[in-house]
Amino acid sequence: MDASTEFSKLAAGHPVLWLNPSLAQQAGPSDLTSDDMLAAQSRLQRFAPLLTRLFPELQASGGSIESPLVETPRLQRALGIGPERGRLWIKADHSLPIAGSIKARGGFHEVLEFAEKLASEHGLLKAGGSYAQLAEAPARELFGRYEVAVGSTGNLGLSIGVMASALGFRATVHMSSDAKEWKKERLRNRGVRVVEHAGDYEQAVAAGRRQAEQDTYIYFVDDERSLSLLLGYSAAAPRLQEQLAAANIAVDAKHPLFVYLPCGVGGAPGGIAFGLKQLFGPHVHCFFAEPTQSPCFMLHMMDGPGAARSVYDIGLSNRTEADGLAVPRASELSAALMEPLLSGVYTVEDAELFRHLYLAQREEDIRIEPSAAAGLSGPGMLCNDQQGQAYLARHGLLDLMPQATHIAWTTGGLFVPEEEYRRFHERGASLAA
Ligand SMILES: *Cc1c(COP(=O)(O)O)cnc(C)c1O
Repeated sequence: MDASTEFSKLAAGHPVLWLNPSLAQQAGPSDLTSDDMLAAQSRLQRFAPLLTRLFPELQASGGSIESPLVETPRLQRALGIGPERGRLWIKADHSLPIAGSIKARGGFHEVLEFAEKLASEHGLLKAGGSYAQLAEAPARELFGRYEVAVGSTGNLGLSIGVMASALGFRATVHMSSDAKEWKKERLRNRGVRVVEHAGDYEQAVAAGRRQAEQDTYIYFVDDERSLSLLLGYSAAAPRLQEQLAAANIAVDAKHPLFVYLPCGVGGAPGGIAFGLKQLFGPHVHCFFAEPTQSPCFMLHMMDGPGAARSVYDIGLSNRTEADGLAVPRASELSAALMEPLLSGVYTVEDAELFRHLYLAQREEDIRIEPSAAAGLSGPGMLCNDQQGQAYLARHGLLDLMPQATHIAWTTGGLFVPEEEYRRFHERGASLAA
């Protein structure tokens, strides 16, 4: 398929798999290295004693915020992926505690990094002392002088808002019009101020950014530009490496790993793909997944740096039930980082998200939100689509597929209210029938 046919499919809102022509064997020099990823991972570990104190539900994990890697053979069969194409696993971030989505990784990391910086500037972190002391009065009094703010379609707000207010910060979340009511309610119940905007995600972010610029006591988490968020996400990679080893899954020249990551602005999938490429190099193949009406990352990668077109500019609506992915313009930071690393991007219709949401529950009793289903279309795209076949052929992978591992990253769902989930499920069931 030539580039113009691909672009017409994209602009017509049809599902398409785009392959990145700039994918390189070896990542070029970048400002970011695996040390940055490991620093983020260590920071999360340093805070574990404090998190256990603030969130009783983390007692069992010792303050670590992690999700299991699960094999899903029944779902694989229901998706029509035969064993000759490898094995399907799910990285279950839909079950991440406290935030209920992948945003727990990046969001918590950035709030904790800010808290750490303040505490150390004010001499509250004595050498060798436990971070648990940050739950005490002097630190809380310090944090209470600051406000942490963020713009969000919902899940990032949940993550930042809940963590910031648990530490004692004032917290404000600027919500876009597509944010679900229950997400706002959950935040208000935790003492977070929710500002509702009539516009989309980009406008909610801009409003928050503007307010923060006028007040030095407001720390704004900027989803479109933040390195701290991205590195927080990347810390998932070394953990996944351990999980793969524990499950006896090899990743090498004979055993390719394919990872399918739902993408909004690109920070979460970008951070994780960056981390995985540091660890597995050419043996890991990362694909992003976007709704057909919100393919901002694919558009940005097709256009190249500097163009900065939004999905509206090509006639798409940015309307999707996958609220976590309803973003009109990609993060420049993530797009630049992904240029040599990303294998491709594909788009999925909402109807397919609902069908897969339903199948995940029926086959494996896995409860996800619509955004989180986007990764489940990956193996089919790769194995059945002409472009997918072209990718496998080009990289000499066709014969290796029986030994391949596919990981669909399920990115959210834990706190979706019963009533809302039932509607999703019914819709998926009737589409699957
Ligand atoms: C935010 C989100 C994503 C994508 O993360 P970005 O950093 O916006 O690309 C994927 N799935 C869910 C459920 C999300 O909330």
